[in-house]
Amino acid sequence: MDKSLITVTSPLLPNLDEFHEELKKIWDCKWITNNGSYHKKLEAALAEYLGVPYVSLFTNGTLPLLTALQALRITGEVITTPYSFVATTHSIWWNGCKPVFVDIDPATGNINPDLIEAAITPKTTAIMPVHVYGKPCDTKRIQEIADTYGLKVIYDAAHAFGVKVNDESILNAGDMSTLSFHATKVFNTIEGGAMIMHDEKTKKRIDDLKNFGIHDEVTVVGPGINSKMDEMRSAYGLLNLRQVDAAIAARQQVAIKYREALLDVEGITFFDDMPGVRHNYSYFPIFIDEKAFGMSRDALYAKMRAANVLGRRYFYPLISEFSTYRGLESARPENLPNAHKMAYSVLCLPMHHALSDDDIQRIIDLIR
Ligand SMILES: *Cc1c(COP(=O)(O)O)cnc(C)c1O
Repeated sequence: MDKSLITVTSPLLPNLDEFHEELKKIWDCKWITNNGSYHKKLEAALAEYLGVPYVSLFTNGTLPLLTALQALRITGEVITTPYSFVATTHSIWWNGCKPVFVDIDPATGNINPDLIEAAITPKTTAIMPVHVYGKPCDTKRIQEIADTYGLKVIYDAAHAFGVKVNDESILNAGDMSTLSFHATKVFNTIEGGAMIMHDEKTKKRIDDLKNFGIHDEVTVVGPGINSKMDEMRSAYGLLNLRQVDAAIAARQQVAIKYREALLDVEGITFFDDMPGVRHNYSYFPIFIDEKAFGMSRDALYAKMRAANVLGRRYFYPLISEFSTYRGLESARPENLPNAHKMAYSVLCLPMHHALSDDDIQRIIDLIR
């Protein structure tokens, strides 16, 4: 029996010879960081590819979250989802704000807009939703609530690279959106990230803030941070951008095969594509109903691991269950029943551009 390792994801890597050519150019000109030509080229290429007006590159996907809250001078309470990667809530905490958790919609895994209003207090200043697994939030409803109550909206769009709704980038929603280009994501620069904004003034301010707040040689506009992407990773990103559409197409084929094979398996459900949405197939979560399936989620997870197939239980535990946050009133499990149900039934199957038909068959055989 084949027991070679299948990981949940595998990074999209540029052609090594092509990358070497770019490195030689960087070595020749000796400009290796601080808004060099590759940095500028990648920002322009991403804006074009994503269909957004302005992109500011960052050194990872967590710092644009922190910086967005700083730039918008967010204070007090920020409404967010517990069903995400910890960085979402950490960014709120690092800004000295209080996260307020709102339950998710079980149909999407995203924050349930119907529950947001009840969580608003006089201290609320912002909403930080996540397009979890790249599935678009109900951005229209969220914006209506934000407009009614005078709140800012910052989307953690770390999973939503290239996602479009009716041909419009999901990244144009809200006041700002952030992306992660970590090695595990659909598009990667090894470590990296970006912020998406809608006007030039904000772009300039963010560019200052990610460079210590330095505006010019003699002006520091505020307590900025250092989150600049260097030239090598910018060059790597430019090469990867050329192959990301092919990678997404390959991921889509994996999703199609999983869905076909798992459709009639009792006790297993998964998300379908949403009408009008260009998905990026960043993850393939399945949900296990222990009674109907005849095995618990954790037992299936362990069985797969024993066969060298590494699924991941994204997002378990919930952020609201971690020690920093579990004492919060909004973190009580009774407040978050759907998030708990999802966190305790989810298993993300291996999903990347390089999965072979044999790999997929091995995974399906383990489940069936
Ligand atoms: C990956 C991720 C981040 C953090 O991005 P890094 O580039 O690893 O710092 C933030 N939020 C979500 C939802 C993520 O999945």
